[in-house]
Amino acid sequence: MCGSSDVRVVACSGSSNVGQIANQAAIKLAKENVCGFFCLAGVGGHIKGMVRSAKEADLMIAIDGCPVQCAAKTLQHVEIEPAIQIIVTELGIEKSHEFTYCEEECLKVVEMVRKELAT
Ligand code: SF4
Repeated sequence: MCGSSDVRVVACSGSSNVGQIANQAAIKLAKENVCGFFCLAGVGGHIKGMVRSAKEADLMIAIDGCPVQCAAKTLQHVEIEPAIQIIVTELGIEKSHEFTYCEEECLKVVEMVRKELAT
């Protein structure tokens, strides 16, 4: 799916373990060339060029740490509906504000994105 198409990911990058897992998973996906990591803050800040660029993506992925869904809602605020949405806590990872997480938790999110892209 990602091949030559313009697939992008945004992460909530929130101040919690799950927000940082979302961020780290997006970094991993970008490093593995699965998709481009897009600046969610630019969209939230209504930076014209960035909103336009986000709207031009062929497919947008939102990774949210928890059910508050800040990343997906930020996109929806500018009328972008994420084609794929992952909520980290729905993968059995409990939210805390201690910022500690393990590699396996990040990989769980990365694998879920890969799985969704393959369907
Ligand atoms: S989705 Fe949850 S973890 Fe992410 S920024 Fe919002 S409240 Fe924080």
